Amino acid sequence: QTILVTGAAGFVAAHVMNSFLEKGYKIRGTVRTEKSADSVRKSHSKYADRLSFVFVQDIAASGAFDEAVKGVDGVIHTASPFILNVEDSERDLLIPAIKGTTGVLEALAKNNPDATRVVITSSFASIIDMSQGYRPGYTYSEADWNPATYDEAKADNGGFAYCASKCFAERAAFDYVEKNKPTFSVATICPPMTYGPIAHTVASMDKLNTSSADIWRFMNGTTEEVPLTDFCGFVDVRDLADAHLRAFETPEAANQRFLVTGGNYSYQKVCDVLNALPGLGEGKVPVGKPGTTPEGEVYKYDTSRAKEVLGMRFRGLEECVMDTAESLLGLEKAM
Ligand code: NDP
Repeated sequence: QTILVTGAAGFVAAHVMNSFLEKGYKIRGTVRTEKSADSVRKSHSKYADRLSFVFVQDIAASGAFDEAVKGVDGVIHTASPFILNVEDSERDLLIPAIKGTTGVLEALAKNNPDATRVVITSSFASIIDMSQGYRPGYTYSEADWNPATYDEAKADNGGFAYCASKCFAERAAFDYVEKNKPTFSVATICPPMTYGPIAHTVASMDKLNTSSADIWRFMNGTTEEVPLTDFCGFVDVRDLADAHLRAFETPEAANQRFLVTGGNYSYQKVCDVLNALPGLGEGKVPVGKPGTTPEGEVYKYDTSRAKEVLGMRFRGLEECVMDTAESLLGLEKAM
């Protein structure tokens, strides 16, 4: 079987492709440039004979996926801008997130009668109500939707707009299915902050993807204080990739969304793990107040659907952060 993976040069996509390739699937990846295709050929050279590429310059362009979807058995749509500081949130976040998603579905309906399932990388951003802060005593689940409005999102150019872009895109996918009753089904995966080893090609340490940079800033000597945590949940990217594979292969996952997380975490806990690691260089990692939770009590997560329907199990924070750190140090050395 051949799977189309959009945004193939990205952090999450690299692991998603590994999960499918390890099981024997063929991957057709969408990338913007020949250089990106080369970078994936390099990072996934072990599977060169089962990798091919299609160029999609801009996922928001109409008909962008018309050629890419032809003949594939399913699609994993990971491509979406994950940038927390943009000039124009409509142009840079909302439109590519929404049109990228509906574009994949429309292209399939038009050009591919055989594909069975589309798995979309959504986000906990699509679930959280940002106006409620740390929301002690509350448990988020798939029943929750980020209540941001389009106008609010358009007026913001940071994290709020990014979160809204993910929510509008995911809603648009389920709305499309409800309205058009396509022959394929959709499943969405909603991860919070995603950390873990790097499996894609990184040009330089200042070009890391947003969530890896979120850990690297605690390792490279640029961060003196431990900040308050933005989103209080994490997932290991290897588990996230596995969730995509399972959501593709599990018939019961049809038209459902899945919250996937290894649980609560804080930047303090990340720094505690990093500070216990040898080899990071004295005094580089901020210390803060080890063993404390500066945020106090925060919202929790209900992951029972991912566990029951997909059979998911999740790595803990320590393993995830240690493997992230090891990978980032190795990457820096190799630069
Ligand atoms: P990356 O930035 O590494 O990957 C994003 C990918 O999308 C890149 O390949 C990028 O291509 C592509 N892309 C973005 N915008 C466009 C566009 N307009 N046209 C064509 N391609 C585009 O980030 P991640 O791997 O972290 O993100 C992957 C997905 O996971 C996203 O949907 C993100 O919202 C979601 N996610 C990530 C989390 C995390 O913590 N990492 C948490 C929750 C969800 P290029 O490199 O050429 O720009």
